[in-house]
Amino acid sequence: MRSRMMIVMGLVLALFLTGCSFGFRGEETKPAEESHETKTEPDTEKPETTPPETPSAPESEETEPRETEETEQDGPREPAPVPDDGKIHVHTVTLNVYRTSIEVGLTDMPLVTMLPTSAPDQREIWSSDNESVATVDPYGRIKGVSEGVCTVTVASADNPLAYAEVKVTVCRLPEVTEPTVIDGILLVNKTYRLPASYNKGVDPEAEAALEEMTAAAKRDGIELFVVSGFRSYEKQTNLYNTYVGREGKIAADRYSARPGSSEHQAGLAFDLNSLEQSFGETAEGRWLAAHCAEYGFIIRYPADKEDKTGFMYEPWHVRYLGLEKAKAVEESGLCLEEYLGVVSQYAIE
Ligand SMILES: [Zn+2]
Repeated sequence: MRSRMMIVMGLVLALFLTGCSFGFRGEETKPAEESHETKTEPDTEKPETTPPETPSAPESEETEPRETEETEQDGPREPAPVPDDGKIHVHTVTLNVYRTSIEVGLTDMPLVTMLPTSAPDQREIWSSDNESVATVDPYGRIKGVSEGVCTVTVASADNPLAYAEVKVTVCRLPEVTEPTVIDGILLVNKTYRLPASYNKGVDPEAEAALEEMTAAAKRDGIELFVVSGFRSYEKQTNLYNTYVGREGKIAADRYSARPGSSEHQAGLAFDLNSLEQSFGETAEGRWLAAHCAEYGFIIRYPADKEDKTGFMYEPWHVRYLGLEKAKAVEESGLCLEEYLGVVSQYAIE
């Protein structure tokens, strides 16, 4: 476990050195606030490889980059002048994020509010000052193209003097070559990714256990059916980007895994019946929670464990662990991350 932690710390350090903006989210934070506080250095203790402080400059910490970072302007600009024609025009463009860090191939979509909201023309004009780093489409969907930093601007079509800017940092994560197995459990979460090439389809043992479980449910008058099973890395990329394109990255990251971080790619997870949290309160959802461990499954993302699993409550998502391990996890009352003593946090928030 210790060596694995060192690998993670090493990864963090590597990202830091390449200038990527990232931060560890120790606790659940309010999305809107979090986005304004994107860090450019880790919140955690410094890696052990950090050179010792020089005795001649004991106060050096006070003058480190933290201060210059705070002086950079984030947030809405002063209201822009508007045409004096008696009509209502946009004077301010605000965003839910003014900085974002995205991986190459992934997206973010800042949410725009044009003020006053009573201005009839709310159209947006998006542009990127460096399309070799990140592109942006007419809907504000920013896509990482290559490592670097650029600025994306959204202006009001009604009043081009009113605009807002997003500082975009595009990063590339080190390639994953091997899946992580701990105590015989294949671990997939925000920290432990699968290789992009991991593409084995549905696990036959998990599929057989699922059939057994649905048959048992049927005998109890409960109908369980699969909504989603195996998904390839490519399919997960498209799905994640689609969700970001609807609600933005902060919202999507709570329920849709980035490629490599989805258990569906492992072929060991199934979404059953309904992708609504209210499913947990239905007869089917309650049956599933009460009996899935008898067939080797766990409810992978329990309620009130989002700060541990990295994902919101998903009463429909079951993960196959095998009979013995599923029962052990269930009896522990812990989520899988707590049970294995691991974290689930993206290196790039
Ligand atoms: Zn799922």
